[in-house]
Amino acid sequence: MDSSPETVYYDVIIVGGGVAGCAAALTLFHSNPGASVLILDDADPGVFKIGESLPAAAKQILTYLSPDLLQRLSGDGHERAYIKCTGNASAWGSSELEETHAMMNPFGMGWHLDRACFDQILRDTVSSAAPDTISLVKGVFMSVDTRDDALHWSLSASIFESDKTRVFTSKWVVDASGRKATVARKLGARTIREDALLAFYAVFVSPPTTEDQDFRTVIEASESGWWYSSPLPSNRRVVAYHTDDSNPTSRDARKQDGFINLLHTNTQHISQLITSGGYDILVHGDAKYPVCTAAGSARLEPPCGVSVSSEAKWIAVGDAAMAFDPLSSQGMITALKMGCFVGDVIARDLLAAGSDDPTSIFQKVYSQAWSKYDEEKQYFYAQEKRFDGEFWRARK
Ligand SMILES: Cc1cc2nc3c(=O)[nH]c(=O)nc-3n(C[C@H](O)[C@H](O)[C@H](O)COP(=O)(O)OP(=O)(O)OC[C@H]3O[C@@H](n4cnc5c(N)ncnc54)[C@H](O)[C@@H]3O)c2cc1C
Repeated sequence: MDSSPETVYYDVIIVGGGVAGCAAALTLFHSNPGASVLILDDADPGVFKIGESLPAAAKQILTYLSPDLLQRLSGDGHERAYIKCTGNASAWGSSELEETHAMMNPFGMGWHLDRACFDQILRDTVSSAAPDTISLVKGVFMSVDTRDDALHWSLSASIFESDKTRVFTSKWVVDASGRKATVARKLGARTIREDALLAFYAVFVSPPTTEDQDFRTVIEASESGWWYSSPLPSNRRVVAYHTDDSNPTSRDARKQDGFINLLHTNTQHISQLITSGGYDILVHGDAKYPVCTAAGSARLEPPCGVSVSSEAKWIAVGDAAMAFDPLSSQGMITALKMGCFVGDVIARDLLAAGSDDPTSIFQKVYSQAWSKYDEEKQYFYAQEKRFDGEFWRARK
């Protein structure tokens, strides 16, 4: 690594150490072990993170990223990282629950993750896999620009440990910062939002004496949107309500009593799970439930680019590049796959000293992934024919 007191050079800087950023870093290491990589991440593993159900098909990817990752997930000081997911049960198109059991899945059961803990396990895995070439720094991205020669990026960040601003330079910048796409937007890209779907979620906790034995994700459609609930480690359960920003229920869902009222009037099965399990909204630290977050379909345009000299390149990955409606339950596995793909292409670009422009490959693969997602999303929404309110009309 080429360093001076002011700046440190890396081949690749990844902003965001979530699933996409970690998958990109580990794949880069597999494909080009000599490449120097900086991951800049500002996550607090003590804060609850939404997005918990990981399908069993992810086993292959996790094993590829690190052969001991599944073992780390099952123990290794992280006992509360997950509970099993036995399948989905959906009241979608009918008020009765229709079950998709994990027994029918060739990969077996998936996971309901403590997501903040899972992301931390991934970051720990990155650190231990490549201590000499990958540096993980806790800090927040501030700005990015090309240096005067346009051959490298110059990226500044506020570093938590020293409370100082530092400047790093690199040939590649990967934006893995999630829906905010904070780096790409500074570089002139814009996020195209297909809808204004919001998610309102709350974490519930049940008394230690009650054992919730329902390990499925339960999904329920209602007149004004749709709900899901998944069990979580430590006697917890997450409940999320999805509706459009313009829907009148979105005002009620912002307040705790309004959210609880909607939950018990709009759902039958999830309401029953919460009541029979003796669940109450979790009171923990600064968390104030319900939390409202963007959940709509969104994609970045363009998802990648180059500097004036074409020597310095950037690419967005995971939610930063394309964010899916949570109905798909494909956010994490897609972010993992994209991370692997991007990490490998960058590794090869560095080895070949940039002989080909990889940005056209990224554009093509991303565009195919988006078309497939969009088609599937339309199909699933069209299966719910009982309601014809504004929420459903906009999706059919
Ligand atoms: C309501 C809801 C429910 C969902 N449920 C599921 C589900 O059950 N299953 C599923 O697979 N997916 C689900 N998802 C989607 C899933 O959570 C995302 O697709 C996934 O987290 C994307 O991973 P990522 O690594 O791209 O981004 P993120 O997980 O958002 O990670 C981004 C990382 O970048 C860091 N970062 C951000 N900005 C900066 C900055 N300026 N400086 C430094 N670091 C920064 C963050 O701290 C974070 O660590 C859900 C989403 C929503 C909204």
